[in-house]
Amino acid sequence: MSKKDFIVKAVEGYADAAIRISDGLWDDPEVAYTEYRACAALTEELERQGFEVETAAAGIPTAFVARWGSGHPAVGIIIEYDALQALNQKADVFEKCETAHGQPGHGCGHHLIGGGSIAGAVAVKKYMEAHGTKGTIICYGCPAEEGGSGKTFMAREGVFDGCDIAVRYHPGDMNTVVRGSTLANVKIKYSFDGRAAHAAGDPEKGRSALDAVELMNLGVQFLREHIIQEARIHYAIIDHGGEAPNVVQAHAEVMYMIRAPRLDQVLDIYRRVNLIANGAAMMTETECKVTFIKGCSDLLNNSVVGRRYYENMKLLGVPEYTAEEIEYAARMNDTVGNTGPKEGEIAAARKCAVDMPAAEAEALMASFGKPISDVVMPFMVSDAPSAGSSDVADVSLVCPCTFFLTVSWSQGTPGHSWQTVAQGKSSIAHKGMLYGAEVLALTAIDFMEDPALVEAAWAEHRSAMGGRTYECPIPKEIKPPIPERE
Ligand SMILES: [Zn+2]
Repeated sequence: MSKKDFIVKAVEGYADAAIRISDGLWDDPEVAYTEYRACAALTEELERQGFEVETAAAGIPTAFVARWGSGHPAVGIIIEYDALQALNQKADVFEKCETAHGQPGHGCGHHLIGGGSIAGAVAVKKYMEAHGTKGTIICYGCPAEEGGSGKTFMAREGVFDGCDIAVRYHPGDMNTVVRGSTLANVKIKYSFDGRAAHAAGDPEKGRSALDAVELMNLGVQFLREHIIQEARIHYAIIDHGGEAPNVVQAHAEVMYMIRAPRLDQVLDIYRRVNLIANGAAMMTETECKVTFIKGCSDLLNNSVVGRRYYENMKLLGVPEYTAEEIEYAARMNDTVGNTGPKEGEIAAARKCAVDMPAAEAEALMASFGKPISDVVMPFMVSDAPSAGSSDVADVSLVCPCTFFLTVSWSQGTPGHSWQTVAQGKSSIAHKGMLYGAEVLALTAIDFMEDPALVEAAWAEHRSAMGGRTYECPIPKEIKPPIPERE
């Protein structure tokens, strides 16, 4: 039996279990650093499958490492399972419909990463057993991808040291290997302390922390014109000081997130934002406390790993869809409204189409007009950063790594939307997850069986690192922002 047939059969045999796992996570969403039940479900399953599980990796209660096999190559599979705040939604309906107000929901499909990654790991183990393949398969259970940089904390504590290659699957609306880099970022909390007073009777005695927050925001507003084009500065007022306008607000807090293509650019903007915060404190005679919450690096996209994903996606062939599934996706797309064409993607595809056989080029360009994308996007190496950030970047600086997306929802579904959540248990999502599992497994085995391929990935990694070693963007003394357990 060919390697491909073996993996397809192994994933098929595990499909029901994988769907049970991902649907289970979808039904019980938990946000960053509180994924206790998800973590338990995944580690129990890995133990049942014969993996040796180490819980509380890097001292984080919801992080884990599960190993099977021994020695090198050691191929790591990155697993995520956190949900997003206030995004719960009924499944398979075509309108925004909360199940419980304010509760979380799986708006980035990380429940599918949970089920698909375990399916991939189980298939690799089966293959290694049947073929006497040497090496170790490592499942990295990584909490808090959303806003918590779980992997960055784990990388700082050396969790990924000794891993030869790291692979990761993520759901999306196209089958594609991620191109270019991701944005580095830092998240910082600015807390201002002033003095309360009667806002009419004793205004001269009050020093407003809310004024300080407003002045800081205004200062940053002016700063935005004098930073590099690709940088972004976001904020949220997380404590406005109280509901009473007749009390001078003695305490107020604002959370900032700063993103840019490279970490050094982020850190320079962070320095300037700190100056503005101090200026606001000086103007209002309040005290400013700066609390660094978390950060992550920019992705070092390894093309040797990326090329294997692409080849395996093509080898396996994309999932086929029924008329009902296409109809379902079209109805879902109607709810998104006019979001415009994917101009960047279409332009990139058009460039690649020039060198393709006519039928393939035609299918590629036609795919953009369909409710469900049904092609593998061409493999492209690019330096351009994407609009988002991911803590996978910190893994990519420790060992060769990149990631790929498979179609799991209708084409045009925005990330982090109710539409994403609504489609999370659909047959389209399940097909994408199982396809992702097959790509993960085949890619892991490619590296297990070919030390020269591992070396090629490392040669690229070393050259891109240019002699520097991994430096974590989160200072040593900062602990992961783990909420008190209720
Ligand atoms: Zn995600």
